[in-house]
This record gives sequence, C-alpha cells and structure tokens, in this order.
Amino acid sequence: MPTPSAPARAGDPWEMALRQFHGAADHLRLDPGVRELLSRPRREFTVHFPVEMDDGSVRTFTGYRIWHSPALGPTKGGLRYSPEVWINEVRALAMWMTWKCALHRLPYGGAKGGVACDPRALSRAELERLTRRYATEISPLIADGSDIPAPDVGTDAQVMAWFMDTCSMHRGYSVPAVVTGKPVSIGGSAGRAEATGRGVMIAAREAARDCGMRLAGSRVVVQGFGNVGSVAARLMHAEGCRIVGVSDVCGGIYNPRGLVPDAVARHVRETGGVAGFPGADRVSNADLLELPCEVLVPAAIEGQITKDNAPRISARVIVEGANGPTTPDADEILAARGILVVPDILANAGGVIVSYFEWVQDLQSFFWSEEEVNAHLARLLVHSYRGVAALARARRVSLRTGALIVAVERVADALRRRGLYP
Ligand code: NAD
Repeated sequence: MPTPSAPARAGDPWEMALRQFHGAADHLRLDPGVRELLSRPRREFTVHFPVEMDDGSVRTFTGYRIWHSPALGPTKGGLRYSPEVWINEVRALAMWMTWKCALHRLPYGGAKGGVACDPRALSRAELERLTRRYATEISPLIADGSDIPAPDVGTDAQVMAWFMDTCSMHRGYSVPAVVTGKPVSIGGSAGRAEATGRGVMIAAREAARDCGMRLAGSRVVVQGFGNVGSVAARLMHAEGCRIVGVSDVCGGIYNPRGLVPDAVARHVRETGGVAGFPGADRVSNADLLELPCEVLVPAAIEGQITKDNAPRISARVIVEGANGPTTPDADEILAARGILVVPDILANAGGVIVSYFEWVQDLQSFFWSEEEVNAHLARLLVHSYRGVAALARARRVSLRTGALIVAVERVADALRRRGLYP
C-alpha cells in the first residue's frame, strides 16, 4: 500500500519492504487490522532546515525521522546522510528495523532517519552545523529517550558525538544514552564500530556450515567498503577467506589471488577510494556482483541484486551486510538457483545488537570489555540464526521469510497484548 504523496520511483525500497511484510503476514494469516497497522509507519517527521555554509551562504536541507512501530519499546534506527535519501527509503529502513529488533529480541521498535545531502561535499564544520541543526529539528521525537539514533551510510561516531552533545546542551546535562555508535570516550561501547561487520562474518560462518561449505579458503566479494563492508572483509580474511573483490561508490577492484583488506583500507584512507589499489583490476559495481566467488556480501545500499543480475550471480551464499540489497523478484530467482541468502535483518544485526549493549551500559554507567561485548554478540546472533534456520527448514521457506515470520509474529503479539488505547 504505497503511502500517499510518495514520489513513484523504480526500485522503490518501501514497495520492497511491504511485499516482504505481506509475504510473512500471509504465512501467519495475520489479523487484517494488525496487517493494516503494520503496513504504515506510525510517525513521520519531515524537516526542512537552514544551514550556514562556510562561504556565508545559507542552504536549506531536507531530513526525515520515521518511526515504523514502537510496539516493542523505544524506537531504534540509524541516520543516513546521502544525496539519495528520500521518504520511501527511510520508511523501508524503519520497517526493517522493527523486524530486526524483534527478531533478536531487542526491547526496541523500529525507526530510521536521514538527511538528503552529500557528506563528502561538506566541510567538517558544515557537517557539524548540519548535524546539530538536524538533531534540534527532530528533537521532539528523540529528546526524551523515546527514539535512539545510530550511525548508517554517511554518518559515523563523530556525527553521533555532535548529536549527543547537542541533545545534552538542550537538556543541560550529559545524556549519552540518546544515541549509540558514539566514540568510546563519551559513552560508546567497545566493539560497536566493528559490530555490524563482525555480525556479517558470524552469519557467513553459520551459513557456510549450513551449506556444508568451509568458510576458510572460500572466495569472497564485498560490495561497499565502508564501515560494514571493510570490517566484514577484514574479519573474513582473518577467518581464512580469500577476498577477491571489493568496491565503493566509485567502482570496484578485483584480484583473483586475493586482496589484503587492511592494505585496501590504508589505500582508501590515503586516496579516498578503492580505485587504483596496486595489483588489482578495475571492475564496475555491476560486474563485481557477478564475479566468481563462494560468498557475496552486498554491504552498500538497497536494490543491488535484481531480477536482471540474479541469474548471473555465481556465489553459493549471499550474506546481506546492507539493508534491502536484494529485491523480492531476485529472491525468487536466487532460491530457484539454490543460492542461500542470509537476509539483512539476520546478517547485519550486529550493529543494533551492540548498540543495545551500548545503551544498557550508558543507562547503568557500567562498561563492559570488548571480549564481553563480542561474546554476547556472537551468542545472540548464533542463537537467532539457528532458530530462523530451523523454522525455515520446518516451513520450507527461505531464511528471509523465516526471519520475517518470527519477527512479525513477535510484534503482532506485542500489539495484541498491549491492546488499544483508548
Ligand atoms: P558507509 O557509509 O560506512 O559505507 C557505505 C559504502 O558503500 C561506502 O564504501 C560507499 O562508497 C559505498 N556505496 C555507497 N553507495 C554505493 C553504490 N551506489 N554502489 C556501490 N557502493 C556504494 O555505510 P555503512 O554503515 O557501512 O552501511 C552500509 C550498509 O549497511 C547500508 O545498507 C546500511 O544501512 C547497512 N547497515 C549499517 C549498519 C551500521 O552499523 N553502520 C548496521 C546495519 C546495516
């Protein structure tokens, strides 16, 4: 059910998210009232706000903060800074957060936010002013701990620090728990920066085991060498995988003998991208997805694996580091070809799981070691993975449908138990 006023676009993530939801709702024979409620975001906030640029001019930016469902607790979800941010993308990402939190039994509802901007074209001072003003504009939704943002594409620990500082200045005292993914020095959690990539590696390990395949020695391709992709590549390399291809928004690099992720990361720090990495061939993002490999990790943005390229994907396992990288049509093609897809809400939940740990640590002012964080993360993710895999086998559905069945049922149960007010 497209929400009114949404601009029609090809590859609409909100349509994708709705199609996935209705598939799970059909399996659950979900009550029509609950289905209707969950097929719309609970709250949508659009803000147009001014930012002073370094040259003294003033530009108006558009941002969003959307709650999909607060049924399970305060809402949680990242903030995205990208020129492509639009309302239906934020709606879809918010809905996926609802399912992700429910799937891993985190006491949160789902939300997402973003600002349509190109963070690479802004100076550090402009980025800080934009962040502080955006935080102020959406403060009616987040200021009292009812909604807890975190980093996503184009944002990082520094952006979260400005965000936390702005909320703290408004409150008059420090409120570290308003946002997660902060630097450790101001209440961030050990292990948070790596958590999503670590979770992807753990999910890949579980999936390889399920397929009777050894992860060590397998060839891996990673689309998107950012926070999630670069860490996943490094940790999978440490597990003995051969990382044969990686990419960023400007294109990819391929070396069938294997790339050393730490060396690629150094090259990115020095030059701004993966292009030109010594000893590797250039490859487009489209061709990268079809490279010969056992494991493909899409870790960039939505809608990358479609009905057009799914027939040519050569991986045996796809582990979704990104949110929504595979369209429903592509899912059907991949399933028919026997390619195992570990869905986003299962594979990339490491970030929100450790964000939950960070929030708990902030509220208690009692901090854990990185070993404790990583051990709790692995335990939760493996438990979720195995539960979903068992359900998917029993019901003869994909891991995505299995994960959504578990998640939607939990949210529906919370709605039933809470009842309607008034
Ligand atoms: P990031 O900004 O750190 O990195 C994104 C990477 O993708 C960069 O290398 C960028 O150049 C590349 N990229 C962007 N657009 C692209 C395109 N059109 N084609 C190819 N590459 C492109 O972002 P991130 O935090 O690593 O997030 C990546 C994905 O993982 C997103 O889908 C995000 O929603 C998801 N995710 C992130 C987290 C987290 O904790 N950061 C948690 C769960 C899911």
